[in-house]
Amino acid sequence: MQPVEHFQHCPKCGAQRHGEASIPFRCDTCGFVYYFNPTVAAAVIITRPDGTVLFITRAKEPAKGKLAFPGGFIDIGETAEEGLRREVSEEVGLEIGPLQFLCSYQQEYPYKDVSYPVLDLLFTSPALGNSEAQPLDAVAAVAWHDPQTIVMDDLAFPSLRAGLTEFLRRFR
Ligand SMILES: [Zn+2]
Repeated sequence: MQPVEHFQHCPKCGAQRHGEASIPFRCDTCGFVYYFNPTVAAAVIITRPDGTVLFITRAKEPAKGKLAFPGGFIDIGETAEEGLRREVSEEVGLEIGPLQFLCSYQQEYPYKDVSYPVLDLLFTSPALGNSEAQPLDAVAAVAWHDPQTIVMDDLAFPSLRAGLTEFLRRFR
């Protein structure tokens, strides 16, 4: 279900919703209006000079066991770049260099009865230091692969497939 469909009552005055759920949510009783926007997420294709890029294996649902790039949801108050550096540090313990925007993608992310509309921002960045990634938070495994050898269906989400396709188109 879309987030707005769960709003059966006005969150301000408690009046029951009449009619179909629509965006924005409008309360007929008190006039309260609430807009629903996409959740913002970001992921990064981390590169090494040998041409390999970092893939993680997801340890949790959705798409447990599938491949992904490090990343996650951006918190309120963070820029996409700040959130992404935090996620990379939490998930694989790596420091990365300058982030370069690659492309964006919109998709649905199902979690506990809510299908969240997500705007995914994809970036590229070189690994810094010794580029020794470790599987940390919500990550089952890490591996550097030649991106041309990856089977698209092994990637967790359509946004990651779109990102890898764009990466290969630009850089290979
Ligand atoms: Zn109301």
